[in-house]
Amino acid sequence: MITMSVPQSNSNEMVEQCENCAAKTPHSVSVELVTESNKKENAAFSREPYRLTECTQCGAETRQRMNNA
Ligand SMILES: [Zn+2]
Repeated sequence: MITMSVPQSNSNEMVEQCENCAAKTPHSVSVELVTESNKKENAAFSREPYRLTECTQCGAETRQRMNNA
C-alpha cells in the first residue's frame, strides 16, 4: 500500500477502518436522516441521523446510527 501525504483540504474526509479493504482508508463522511419504519408508533418522529461513510478506495458504504438512545 502506498502512503502519500495528502493535504487535508477535503473537510469531509476521514481515515477510518474499512472492513472491505481490511485497512484504514480515507472515507467521505456525510450525515443522512433515515426514517425508521419498523415502529408503528411515532412514525413521524422516528427519523434518525445516520453517519454515512464511503470508502474512497473501494466504494463500500457504511451506515452507523448516531443516536443510540
Ligand atoms: Zn474500502
